[in-house]
Amino acid sequence: MESRWYKLLGLTFCCTLVMIFDVVQPAAAQRAGYWQQHVSYMMNVHLNGETHKVNGHQKAVYTNHSPDTLTHIYYHLYFNAFQPGSMMDVRSRTLPDPDSRIGSRILHLNKTQIGYQHIQSLTQDGKRVNYQVQNTILEVKLDHPIAPGETSTFEMDFKSQVPLQIRRSGRDNKEGVDYSMTQWYPKIAEYTDDGWQTHPYVEREFIGVWGDFDVTITLDSAYTIGGTGYLENPQEVGHGYEDPSKPLDKPEGNELTWHFYAPNVHDFAWAADRDYTHEIYQVPDGPKVHILYIKSPKTSHWDIMGKETVESIEWLNKHVGTYPYKQYSVIQGGDGGMEYPMCTLINGEESERSLIGTMTHELTHNWFYGVLGSNESLYPFMDEGFTTHFSSKMMKDVYGGPENPLLGSYLGYLNIKYHKLEEPSITHADRFETNYAYGISSYSKPAAFLDQLSYIIGEKNFEKGIKRYFKTWKFKHPDPHDFKRVMEKQSGMELDWYFRFWLHSTDKIDYKISSVEHNSDSVKVKLHRIGDATLPIDLVVNYADGTKEMHNIPLGIMRGQKPEDPGYDRWIYEKDWAWTKPDYTVTIATAGKPEIQSIDIDPSNRLADVNRLNNRTPFPLKLHFMEPASPIDWDHYQASIRPAVWYGQQSGLRIGFTSSGSYLFGDKALDLDFFLTSGVLDDYQIGHTDVDYRLKYRHQMDNWGKETYLSTSLRRYYGIFEEYIELKKQLGTYGFLENTKRTLAFRAFHQAKTAERQVSNLGSGWERGDVYGFDFRFTYGNAARNGFTVHAVAATHRDLFSASYTEFSGNKTYDWTPKFSTRLGLAFGMGTRQLPRQYRWTVADPSPAQLWQNETFTSFYNLLGNQTARDLHLVGNGQNGLIGYGLSGIGFPDFAGNNYLTATVWNTYKPIRKIPLNLELFSGLGKSWNGVFLSDMPVFGDPDNVPLLFSVGAGASYDVSQINSIRRWTAQSRFLQKLNLSLRVPFYMNNLNQHSNFKPRFVFGLSERF
Ligand SMILES: [Zn+2]
Repeated sequence: MESRWYKLLGLTFCCTLVMIFDVVQPAAAQRAGYWQQHVSYMMNVHLNGETHKVNGHQKAVYTNHSPDTLTHIYYHLYFNAFQPGSMMDVRSRTLPDPDSRIGSRILHLNKTQIGYQHIQSLTQDGKRVNYQVQNTILEVKLDHPIAPGETSTFEMDFKSQVPLQIRRSGRDNKEGVDYSMTQWYPKIAEYTDDGWQTHPYVEREFIGVWGDFDVTITLDSAYTIGGTGYLENPQEVGHGYEDPSKPLDKPEGNELTWHFYAPNVHDFAWAADRDYTHEIYQVPDGPKVHILYIKSPKTSHWDIMGKETVESIEWLNKHVGTYPYKQYSVIQGGDGGMEYPMCTLINGEESERSLIGTMTHELTHNWFYGVLGSNESLYPFMDEGFTTHFSSKMMKDVYGGPENPLLGSYLGYLNIKYHKLEEPSITHADRFETNYAYGISSYSKPAAFLDQLSYIIGEKNFEKGIKRYFKTWKFKHPDPHDFKRVMEKQSGMELDWYFRFWLHSTDKIDYKISSVEHNSDSVKVKLHRIGDATLPIDLVVNYADGTKEMHNIPLGIMRGQKPEDPGYDRWIYEKDWAWTKPDYTVTIATAGKPEIQSIDIDPSNRLADVNRLNNRTPFPLKLHFMEPASPIDWDHYQASIRPAVWYGQQSGLRIGFTSSGSYLFGDKALDLDFFLTSGVLDDYQIGHTDVDYRLKYRHQMDNWGKETYLSTSLRRYYGIFEEYIELKKQLGTYGFLENTKRTLAFRAFHQAKTAERQVSNLGSGWERGDVYGFDFRFTYGNAARNGFTVHAVAATHRDLFSASYTEFSGNKTYDWTPKFSTRLGLAFGMGTRQLPRQYRWTVADPSPAQLWQNETFTSFYNLLGNQTARDLHLVGNGQNGLIGYGLSGIGFPDFAGNNYLTATVWNTYKPIRKIPLNLELFSGLGKSWNGVFLSDMPVFGDPDNVPLLFSVGAGASYDVSQINSIRRWTAQSRFLQKLNLSLRVPFYMNNLNQHSNFKPRFVFGLSERF
C-alpha cells in the first residue's frame, strides 16, 4: 500500500517559463522596491547528429537592475551533471529512495555518453574574463563591475556533448526520441533580493533571469524541432510550420537553420526527432497548439492530445489568468513530464489517463513556473503544489476524474504523516532527506493546503485571490510572502499563522468531538484539539428534514471570518476560538427544530485532519457483508464481516463469523472471530459445545517514533488459549523506506492448554498447564529471502523458569535470472532440557507451537481427519525443514529435541510470470537432538550417535494467495492469505529404519509462504 501511494504521489514530474519587456515593473502592486535582472540572449548553435556534439556562440546582454554593484557573474552548465562522480550522481546513490530514472545510471556512463559543456572563450564588453568551473556552475570574475542600472555584454563560444538521456535532457530517450534539449546552454544564474541563486544541478529545479531569447539552431534537415518561442523562418524550414498558402523557400544542402524568438521568458528548451508527426490546433482567441510525437501503436492516445490541450488552456485562462504567449507545444521527449516556457516534454507511450494527466500537469506549470516564475529551488511547493492543485481540478472538469479531485493530495499528505517522514515544505528542493518527502511536501501537501486555504478564507475569496495573485505577480519571482499578502488583502484576514504552520512545521491537525450533551432545547457539543495545529472549525449539524446548519468558529488570530459558503440552510458565526485553548463548547439551539441526525467537523473534507473518526457523531462505520473493506477511507472505519463454517472429522462442526476492520492505511486494525464448535478431538469425546474466538487489535503508537505498533490478542483455538501484548518497532531513520528493514518485537504472553480438545497433528503434542513468558524477536531484512531472524523466548513452565530457547534462521537468495533462483538457508535452535513438548523442534516439521499458529494446516488436517491426512502425506511445512522426514511411518523414532540444526538449498524455477507456480529442486541436511547444543550435537558417521539426516528431492508449489481472480475472497480470509500448496517428492533420504534410501515418495504440504 505504501508503495502504491508513493508511486502515485511521488510524481515523476519536475518542472519551470515567462514576459515583461525590458522594463522592470515598478512595485505598484507588489513588494515595495521590487526589482529583477534582465538578459537578452542571442545564440547560434550547430548540432552534429552523428557525434551528439553542439558548437555554440552565445551573446548575452545583461542589465543589472539591482541596487548592488556586481563583481562576479555565474552560469549554469547543467550538462556537467551527467558525469560519474557529479553531485547529481552521488546524491542519487546516497538517498534511501533514489529517483529510479537516475539510480546509478550516471556512474556507468562512458566517455561518449556523458554530458559536458566546455567554455572555449568568454568576454565581458569585449574583454577576456577569468573563470573557473565548479561542478555545474561557471564562476566568472568580471573584468569591470556592473553598477546598478548598467548593462554588460557577455560573449562566449562553447562546445557541448549531449549526454545519453538520464534525467530530463539528453539524447536517445527510452522511447527513441533523438534529442531532448533542455538545460542545454550556459545559462546565467539569477540574482534577486535574496542574492545569487547559484544552485548546483543536483536534481531539481530551476530559476532563471527574465529576458528574451533569439536562437538559431542548425542541424540535419531530417529533424523536426519543437520547443520554446516562435519560429521566425517557417517558409525556410517547413516541417509543418509553414504557411501552406505561400511557397517554401528551403536552402540548398543537408542542413536547415531554425530561427526561434521567445520574448519575456526565463528559459529556452527544444527537442528534435527525425520521426515526429507535427499537428497544429488553435485555441479560439488564443495561442496555436503544436503537438509533436512519434506516431506508433504505442502512442495511439495522442490523437486526442490537441483537443485536450486546447480545452485545458481555456480552463486555465478562465480560472487562473490569460496565457500570454502565441504558442504552446506538447512534445514527446524527456523522461516523464517536464515543463518549459511555452512547451512541455512528456513521455508518450502511456495510458490515455496517464498521458492526459501528465500533459495537464505540465501545461498548468506554464501559469505557475512559467508566468509566475517562483524560485523552484527554494520554494518548490509554489510551483509543483499550485500546479498539482489546479491541474487536479482541471483534469476533473476537462477530462473527468474523482468527485473530490484533491482527495489524492490529501491522502498523500496523510500517508506521510502516518509514516512520520514529513519534512517542512520550505525545505530546499535538493535537501529533502527522501524523494518521498520532497514529493509530498512539494506536490501533495501544498495542493491540499491551498484547498484548505479556501476552507479558511472561503471559496469566493480563494477564487478571486488566485487571479489577483497571477495578475499582480506575472513575469516576476513571487515568494511565499507575496502570495500570503495577496490572499490577506483579498480576504481581509491575517494569515501568517497559517503560512508558518504550512511551510515551516510538520504539526498535525486533529480535532475531535469529545462529548454531546442533549438538553431540553439545546445540544452542547464539546470540541477538543488534539494536534498542535490550530485552525478555524466548521461544525455542521444535519437535521432529520435534510437541512444543514453551519456553526463557523473562527480563530481569534485571523481577525476576521470567511463569508458564507453556499450549500447551508443556516449559517451561524460562533465566538472566536483562542489558539491557546484546547477545548471549546458550542451550544446548538434545537427548540422547534427537527431531530439532529449527525454532527460533523468539516464535512467538506478540506481540513487535513489526520483522524476523521472522531470528527463525527454518530461514529462513522462502514460495514461490508461478505465483501472486503477498503483499506483507504478517510471518512469511515471500514470493516467486513462474513459467516464462516468449517467441518472437521474430529472437531465436528464449527460455526460462527469472522470480521476484520481498519482505518486509513491499516491503522486501528481489529480482527474478530467467534465460533461455536462441537465434536471429538484428540480421541477424547467432548460431548458438548465449545467456543473458539480471536480478538486482536493493532494500533500505531503515534508518539513512539516511526513504524511502532502495539498489538494485543486474545485467542482460543482447538483447545489452546493464548493471550499476548506485543510492541513492534522498526529501526532506522527512514521508516518504511529503509532498504534493509530491521525490526524489533517484544511480546509478553500467556499460553495454556485449556480443554481436552487438541489437534492431533501437533507433532509431539502440547503439554498441559500454563506458560507465562517473554518473547523477543529481531529481524534483519527479509528473513525468508535475504536476511535473518533471532528469536529468544524465556518462559515459566510448571513453576520453573526453564522453558527458554534461542533460535536463528537466515536465508540468502541468488536470483540468477528473473525466473530462476537459489536460496541457501541456515537455521538452528537451542533450548533448555526441560523445554515443553510444544516448543521442541524436529527437522521435519515446525514445532507444535508453530503448527498451531498455522491455521491453514490445522484446518485442513482436521477437515480430512487423521487417517486421510496421513494417507495424503499432509505436512505443515516450515521454512527450513527437511522434506520427507515428517511422513508418518517413516520409521525414524526420535525427531523432536531441545536443539536443532538445518542447512537447506532450494533451487526455484518460475516458468510463467503471471502464474504463482514454482518448480523446485531441494536438498536439506540437519538434525534435532536432546541435551546440550554443542557437546551433544550428533556427529555424521558416528555409529553410536544419531547421525545427521539428509534429503534430496523435487517438487512444485502454488501460492493461492497470489491468484488475482479470487482477490475478493483472499482479502477477507486469513486462511486464503496464507494458503500455499505444495507437492514434493523427496526421492532420497538417509538413515531410515526398514526403508530404502532411494524411493519414490511424496509429501503434500500446506504452509504459510514457503
Ligand atoms: Zn510538476
